[in-house]
Amino acid sequence: MADYVAAIDQGTTSTRFMIFDHGGNEVGRHQLEHEQIMPKAGWVEHSPVEIWERTRSVIATAMNQHHLAASDLAALGITNQRETTLVWNRRTGRPYYNAIVWQDTRTDRIASALEREGKGEVIRAKAGLPPATYFAAGKVQWILENVDGVRADAERGDALFGTMDTWVLWNLTGGPRGGVHITDVTNASRTMLMDLRTLAWDDELLSFFSIPRAMLPEIKPSSEPAGYGLSPDVSPLAGVPISGILGDQQAATVGQVCFAEGEAKNTYGTGNFLLLNTGNRPVRSQHGLLTTVAYQFAGQDPVYALEGSIAVTGSAVQWLRDQLHIIGDAAASETLARRVEDSAGVYFVPAFSGLFAPYWRSDARGAIVGLARFHNDAHIARATLEAICYQSRDVVEAMAKDSGVDLAVLKVDGGVTANSLCMQTQADVLGVPVIRPQVAETTALGAAYAAGLAVGFWRDTDELRANWNQAHRWDPEWDEDRRESGYADWKRAVERTLDWVKV
Ligand code: ADP
Repeated sequence: MADYVAAIDQGTTSTRFMIFDHGGNEVGRHQLEHEQIMPKAGWVEHSPVEIWERTRSVIATAMNQHHLAASDLAALGITNQRETTLVWNRRTGRPYYNAIVWQDTRTDRIASALEREGKGEVIRAKAGLPPATYFAAGKVQWILENVDGVRADAERGDALFGTMDTWVLWNLTGGPRGGVHITDVTNASRTMLMDLRTLAWDDELLSFFSIPRAMLPEIKPSSEPAGYGLSPDVSPLAGVPISGILGDQQAATVGQVCFAEGEAKNTYGTGNFLLLNTGNRPVRSQHGLLTTVAYQFAGQDPVYALEGSIAVTGSAVQWLRDQLHIIGDAAASETLARRVEDSAGVYFVPAFSGLFAPYWRSDARGAIVGLARFHNDAHIARATLEAICYQSRDVVEAMAKDSGVDLAVLKVDGGVTANSLCMQTQADVLGVPVIRPQVAETTALGAAYAAGLAVGFWRDTDELRANWNQAHRWDPEWDEDRRESGYADWKRAVERTLDWVKV
């Protein structure tokens, strides 16, 4: 058998192609960013054409740089930024509109109307999600209502809906010349359209958004021995089976080998996503968390998770760089924040897209509170890193209430975990150790695992467990007093951001 498994990670800020060996070690990669299109406050779009071009380009460059041929790869997995939604034409392959990104809040009226009309409870019960701008269905409805000609084409079956996994797979398998129109259970569980128990599209949910069934992809397990389709002859991946698809956070859960009930991971990227494996049982949250599919390996029952999603964490660091210009790059947030001992009473609640878990308040907007003449850019940087940690504590508290299990240790990954000050602060704010594995790219690794399991490259999940090695550990240093008073002030700061936008 070939020596490696590869994964495409189509993320919010960039697309990467990564190649792993049997030990789960990175063998090679290439990565390219794409444009964040922000036409109005609250709107965030991506160009699907640019993303597909970048995907092709990172595959070709990585394969070339590492002198690899398709025959070196046993399988290919796909993972993706979840919920980001597009509609394209089956015949031409052209998108009708840019992809509407998960952070985009243009559908806040759609979301609040669902709640007002009493449909929120049905969505919670069937899909495990609160009605929110975050999820795909409202975005599809917006495109159907606002872009000429889409509805008629959708009813004829010519306009296809997809999240980024579906778009990349459709293009990889031939696009207008026979591309397959498929998504996996984890991505489908983020739409508000799939029933969590049957793992099928639900007519009542579809009717809430007036979405024609003909535009929906087929739902498949996350790991598929038969493959979803073969890579086309033209790409450097000719003949490699595409056998794993997972939404990025579910992929990170697999990459962090959280295969047992009670195991959890927190990923720090553009936003933060804490997922707790709840076994074969979908647990209904009473405290503002989502119920979602963690993964389904072919022939097995689905495994569910409770999820705490935070919209803005690493992207608050980007905001310091791109809008405030107080740092030159993300890593400088640590050097700047270290210039001061603490944030000296400043709290930054980066509710740019409203607040996600556990609040689910689309009417919230960001605030920096507690400012005095004395404060400077270093305090703002420090408050930004602390905000990442306090938002995670909000989610950890909700998780403990819903599951009855107190976290003993937090497994972390993602871009922000390069920031040691932030990870130390996380241990301090939570009062539990924080640990990071050697392979930080757990998202791509998880997709590779799903694909490799399907074709027998890895035998079982025990083999994957053996690949997990700890690289770093941060232990709590704050005393109880500092931890609790800091958190109480954080909660006061959050209060001030609520009810800001009238929706
Ligand atoms: P995604 O998969 O969502 O694109 P990544 O895991 O690649 O995210 O992480 C990118 C995010 O991490 C960016 O928002 C960036 O601001 C943040 N980031 C990267 N390095 C650091 C650092 N040293 N300190 C703080 N934030 C960082």
